[in-house]
Amino acid sequence: MSMIWENLQQIEERIATAAQRSGRKREEITLIAVTKTHPAEMMLEAYEAGLRHFGENRVQEWEGKRGSLANLNATWHLIGHLQSNKAARAAIAFHCIDSVDDLALAQRLDRARAERSADRLRVLLEVHLGGEESKSGIEPAQVQALAEKAAALPHLHLAGLMCIPPFCEEPAKARPYFRKLRELRDQAALASRLALPVLSMGMSHDFEVAIEEGATEVRIGTALFGARPKI
Ligand SMILES: *Cc1c(COP(=O)(O)O)cnc(C)c1O
Repeated sequence: MSMIWENLQQIEERIATAAQRSGRKREEITLIAVTKTHPAEMMLEAYEAGLRHFGENRVQEWEGKRGSLANLNATWHLIGHLQSNKAARAAIAFHCIDSVDDLALAQRLDRARAERSADRLRVLLEVHLGGEESKSGIEPAQVQALAEKAAALPHLHLAGLMCIPPFCEEPAKARPYFRKLRELRDQAALASRLALPVLSMGMSHDFEVAIEEGATEVRIGTALFGARPKI
């Protein structure tokens, strides 16, 4: 069995245990394999191991790899910051844009999608919850207003929120950030009468804590594929 397959079995067990601990079902949680910097062959191996959701953080990198992979029955997520001049390409190359952080970007995605597909493009709003690691994302106070505007765009489907909390040595220290994202989602959903079921939060070192706080999508790279090559 491949290394990816073995890693996946361990991660699956940890996801199931974290879900059980918090009274949730395993099926409520989608595992997104984060494949940035890894070659297409490794992605194919991950697909063969059973993974069906993949996250890339750059449009150009994914365009370079997707030739041999685009026809697989998988869902491709953009999880990294998207510059608005690449929005049109991203709306074609991905099923989901999980890092929308501004209205002009959402509008560009909406227009691009209208031209290319009858299906709505799924989007999440990325929220900046503090820390220096990631400067992208909207501030918590902007969530409700942007959610209402993005939800009104006819070719987008706003499904929820995403965050990258500051890196904490101890995973438990990330808990307040995950909780905050859930509370922001609850508030916006209630105030704006929107269904925002998706919370994309938790990475290799803290996904169990994120699941305990309500994550419905965890984005895992290192724990599946090993350390990324330095590029
Ligand atoms: C790289 C990346 C991940 C995966 O990080 P790991 O620590 O390798 O699991 C998750 N989310 C985003 C947005 C990333 O850029």
